[in-house]
Amino acid sequence: MATLFPLFVDLHDRPVLVVGGGEVAERKVQALREAGARIHVQAPALTPALQLLADTGLIGWDPGTFRAGALDGVWLVIAATDDATVNRAVADAASRRRVFANVVDDALLSSFHVPAVVRRGDLQVAVSSGGGAPMVARHLRRQLETWLDDSWGALTALLARERGRIRARFPETGARRRFFERLLAGPLPRLLRQRRTEQAERALADALAAPVSPPRGSVVLVGAGPGDPGLLTLAGLRALNEADVILHDRLVSDEVLQLARRDALRVEVGKSAQGHSVRQESIHALMLEHARAGRRVVRLKGGDPFVFGRGGEELEFLHGHRIPYEVVPGITAAVACAAYAGIPLTHRDHAQSVRLVTAHCRDSLDTLDWAALARGRQTLAFYMGVAGLETVQARLSAEGCPDRTPFALIESGSRAEQRVITGRLDGLARTARHHQVRSPALLILGEVAGLADVLHWFGPAPLAAPPHPDDLAAATLPHAA
Ligand code: SAH
Repeated sequence: MATLFPLFVDLHDRPVLVVGGGEVAERKVQALREAGARIHVQAPALTPALQLLADTGLIGWDPGTFRAGALDGVWLVIAATDDATVNRAVADAASRRRVFANVVDDALLSSFHVPAVVRRGDLQVAVSSGGGAPMVARHLRRQLETWLDDSWGALTALLARERGRIRARFPETGARRRFFERLLAGPLPRLLRQRRTEQAERALADALAAPVSPPRGSVVLVGAGPGDPGLLTLAGLRALNEADVILHDRLVSDEVLQLARRDALRVEVGKSAQGHSVRQESIHALMLEHARAGRRVVRLKGGDPFVFGRGGEELEFLHGHRIPYEVVPGITAAVACAAYAGIPLTHRDHAQSVRLVTAHCRDSLDTLDWAALARGRQTLAFYMGVAGLETVQARLSAEGCPDRTPFALIESGSRAEQRVITGRLDGLARTARHHQVRSPALLILGEVAGLADVLHWFGPAPLAAPPHPDDLAAATLPHAA
């Protein structure tokens, strides 16, 4: 089914038909009355409460059974009978006349759904599960009830009242948005929570009277973490909420991007392991262009911006062009993948140091100090293109790193599709090929990697190395003979 379009409709003084006169119908009538609809009920019998409304003329009542003619001139119809045939007849007739119909407890027959709602004055938060799982929507609504205190209604009322004045003071939408952000970050919400209405009104008047300086563009370098949106920092989330422009790497997960301000301009500036990336100079130029136009730019990078993320180069560039900047660290792949694979990066029994190593290209592979990397009692975390694994295995072995040194390859760490592959150094390249490990993947090498087989907790259990070809041959020979 296609995505439902959320909508708040004005039913004031508009005819609406409710078919059914039981308790469910009664609840629907109550909600429709709050919206000021002109309600007509069609049902052979009514609950006492509905009967009272009908007797006093607050709702109309037609005591017959459903006739399609009753849909003439109505804007909406709700079918709330316990008779499936009647409900279907209402839905069919409504559909022919292009009247939106809700059939209680029947998502398929309904052409509109009534969301679970939290209300604070004119502020309404509606939650929909698409009609399929109303319990989920109701559960979330209950949580929202506890998060949203009464002051939200007061805030909504105050700002609605002052809307004209605010618009006149800030005719331009960008300036208006910045004003609201300053206002809401200031004392106003707290004053309203404390019911100090007069002081709140004064705070708003002061804010409107205060001189405003022209917006100053800036760049925030934000680490998005490895993919799980729960691993984004609060500072990172705030920056994403305030951004005018988001320049993000391909490595940044959709779930994280969904947390960003809806109307921020988003530009994917590439950087996949396969190449095809926007050139670094173009990224610099984009940051400069937007910041100089007074926009708040978030440069969003996978993991941490300063770990193999070229964050340093970007900061040097901004510094050189006198653009104000901030840096929000992120959880880097080594830390996240280790955690989500159950691998303690250091361990009193196995490793006293950790090295973050990049093995992305031929150059970086050639310049590494392999002798130092081959030493024991340390953990190596390789950020890499999967293609370099042969070289890593060969160079480490050549420098005397034991064949039985455990490794763990973590593919798409912290994401729903995470895979962990474990084995020994002498089977590294073969195992990765066997399981077709794809980017992004991180290699952890050292005694601690072996703990993943025991301590894993996230996603499926680690995959093992395939049997060695020699072992296979040995095992099958006697039968072959
Ligand atoms: N700045 C990033 C690293 C960028 S280099 C950080 O701090 O994490 C890109 C490499 O990071 C990938 O090739 C891969 O080795 C690793 N990587 C990033 N995210 C990953 C993830 N979710 N799972 C596994 N490896 C990841």
